[in-house]
Amino acid sequence: HRRRTPLIAGNWKMNLDHLQAVAFVQKLHWTLKDAKHEDGSVEVAVFPPFTDLRTVQTLLDADKIPFALGAQDVSAHDSGAYTGEVSGAFLAKLDARYVIIGHSERRQYHAETDEVVASKVKAAIKHGLVPVICVGETLEQREESGPTAVSVGQLEVALEGVAADADIVVAYEPVWAIGTGQVASPEQAQEVCAALREVIAAKLGADAAARTRVLYGGSVKSANIASFMREPDVDGALVGGASLVVDEFAAIIRYQK
Ligand code: PEP
Repeated sequence: HRRRTPLIAGNWKMNLDHLQAVAFVQKLHWTLKDAKHEDGSVEVAVFPPFTDLRTVQTLLDADKIPFALGAQDVSAHDSGAYTGEVSGAFLAKLDARYVIIGHSERRQYHAETDEVVASKVKAAIKHGLVPVICVGETLEQREESGPTAVSVGQLEVALEGVAADADIVVAYEPVWAIGTGQVASPEQAQEVCAALREVIAAKLGADAAARTRVLYGGSVKSANIASFMREPDVDGALVGGASLVVDEFAAIIRYQK
């Protein structure tokens, strides 16, 4: 467990334009001065809207701010007649390291199927990006098929054809816990994250399972982050709402086990 550097990832969703993004990142960096992310014991990543990426990249680079940059989605295609889409090649050129794929909001509002997610995962890896593969069940699905079946099935499809040495991150985000304030218990998160690690082991091998970070996401706050981080198979958090509040996100990054 210790070998996996914890990852605290802030998914801004459709919030903060490029000017607000600059102010936010500067304030967050200032608030975190001398915090442990500066010594590399926790990795921090921010996921702004596409239109902010260039501006945030320039700021991180100029001020030597040690946050990783990520996008919230990527096209399954490299280039061409796909109006409105953004290629992984373009994201890689902007020094984006991560890309969120299969967030429940994209599955829900943009009809992204497991197969679409799988093709985007392959596109991300092809362009040198690390996919943050999101899986998770609705409340009805949990009641119908139990806590792990839906997430396990989604991840199995997403990892189809992925190489054993690929760099990936997996995020367990129960749909009923996203933006609802109805947080999963640490035990519930651990149960599914452990099952997802078994999928990684079965599909990509034991080395990949030991190396890959599995995150929990869904109403993570400074008040509950430590309880998740104490679980052996939870390697970090994907944070939505609380990642937009400087003091709150900084407090999450500074969690003490
Ligand atoms: C998310 O959308 O990835 C998320 C976890 O949102 P929130 O933290 O607001 O529940």
